[in-house]
Amino acid sequence: MILVSACLVGLHCRYDGKTSVNDELVELVLKGEAIPVCPEMMGGLPVPRIPAERVGDKVINKEGMDVTKEFTLGAEKTLDLALINKVEKAILKSKSPSCGVGVIYDGTHSRTLKEGNGLTVELLMKHGIHIENEN
Ligand code: SF4
Repeated sequence: MILVSACLVGLHCRYDGKTSVNDELVELVLKGEAIPVCPEMMGGLPVPRIPAERVGDKVINKEGMDVTKEFTLGAEKTLDLALINKVEKAILKSKSPSCGVGVIYDGTHSRTLKEGNGLTVELLMKHGIHIENEN
């Protein structure tokens, strides 16, 4: 079983209420081989929501509000789901402060990228789960 970002399989859970469908990943969910997760919604954030970026160990939204607690809760719930389902691999949405792997936005809210991982990715990796992005 693998985990996939819910916004990649048709759920309108992005900060702007949109989705970013990837047909191959939708197929995996339909065949029962992948479980969709949206860490930010699982952490209690609404849709739509103010976009947020990682700033060091914290996650701050565009209005300056600290949403680290919600992002952390979402990461922990995603990890729980992964462990219960013996997940070894996840395919997650690139650049996101939760789901991004390798490259994320730099915390300045200027669409600038930097090396780094989303909060959920960081936690899943610590537990030996292999993460790729949708590309
Ligand atoms: Fe998609 Fe992950 Fe952002 Fe949810 S938290 S909208 S699954 S990138």
